[in-house]
Amino acid sequence: MTKDEHAQPGWKPATLLVRGGTQRSSFDETCEALFMTSGYVYRSAEEAERAFNGTDQRFVYSRFANPTVQMFEDRMALLEGAAFCKATASGMAAVFASMACFLKAGDRLVASRALFGSCQYVVGEILPTFGINSVFIDGTDPAAWRDALSQPTACVFLETPSNPMLDIIDVGEVAALAHAAGARLVVDNVFASPLLQKPFSMGADVVVYSATKHIDGQGRCLGGAVLANDQAWFEERLIPFLRHTGPALSPFNAWLLLKGLETLDLRMRRHTENALAIARHMEARGTCERLLYPGLASHSQHALAMQQMTAGGTIVTFDFPGDPPSAKAAAYAFLNALRIIDISNNLGDAKSLATHPATTTHQRLTDEERATLGIKPGTVRLSVGLEDAEDLIADIDQALDAAQALSLDAGFCYP
Ligand SMILES: *Cc1c(COP(=O)(O)O)cnc(C)c1O
Repeated sequence: MTKDEHAQPGWKPATLLVRGGTQRSSFDETCEALFMTSGYVYRSAEEAERAFNGTDQRFVYSRFANPTVQMFEDRMALLEGAAFCKATASGMAAVFASMACFLKAGDRLVASRALFGSCQYVVGEILPTFGINSVFIDGTDPAAWRDALSQPTACVFLETPSNPMLDIIDVGEVAALAHAAGARLVVDNVFASPLLQKPFSMGADVVVYSATKHIDGQGRCLGGAVLANDQAWFEERLIPFLRHTGPALSPFNAWLLLKGLETLDLRMRRHTENALAIARHMEARGTCERLLYPGLASHSQHALAMQQMTAGGTIVTFDFPGDPPSAKAAAYAFLNALRIIDISNNLGDAKSLATHPATTTHQRLTDEERATLGIKPGTVRLSVGLEDAEDLIADIDQALDAAQALSLDAGFCYP
């Protein structure tokens, strides 16, 4: 394997996405090679010994490292501007590994409450069984962060924009408070993607991704990544943890993700243009009680969102009005009337996907917990895909008409 000789420091993201981290085998292939192998052979017993005692740096087992997976890791590190990256089998493996490598029994973990469902489960249910003191707070409230981080803390975990209500958290402010409390800050940057938001530049210590979302972006495979700059933590905590607990990314999935990265810049532009067009159209139409898109001036945290992100993202969230049963019925009427957009709990796909968080991704929570997060019976989350914006708007319009007709029948007046 030889490293791409052309890789230059200072390459812009679109170039790094296509070429960063590429290594070529002796066959000089154009496309990144897929090394679908679990193990590696040694020409002699002495060579095996040197590989294991660390004299030779080489591949020994794909739970530790694999050439295709390494190309994905190197490309991700270059894109994020991070010194180190390890790929994982899923986003949740990346989230759990990064938190686990900062925590031990008796430690305190502070997290924003508005998290992806499984992240909330890890923080709230799994880590406490290992003796971690997990504290959830409202991530949009600076006073809550100041209060929670006024005592020694080992790790802080947050997601911004959050799923599904698109809360924005001031990463720089939280990083400063976290470091003052002795904590390391882990940022789940899935909703923004590596292209729209740079958590390291705002003080994050670790950035995690579900590569399943925008990085694959075509609904094909699961994957994750942990990025960091602290060499000691990366080499002494994270690598041994991943090696021995085993959430290794399949070489095949790494290859799909490398292909996904090649088009990420193009796709994110189209996703965000479409999302903004849809948000503007829906806001002008005014059918929904609440329309959330960080790229709209009407978003209560628009200024902060635009300070931290280069665009509003790929997700639009909105509510149908009415008492709980009629709001839910209107949301269902909308979802069931969609002709192009699919009903799915996934996001960041080329295909536009709509979900009803209260009964799917957030059904595990109680009514009160959902209310605290702002998730209502009429809430719909739309992951905006790559289809033509006019076609999507027409689909949304006819589905909104269906929801509106139902609510008018029920005697509910729209604003
Ligand atoms: C999907 C997602 C995850 C988990 O990733 P998987 O690849 O499904 O394991 C974590 N955080 C956020 C914000 C996500 O959207």
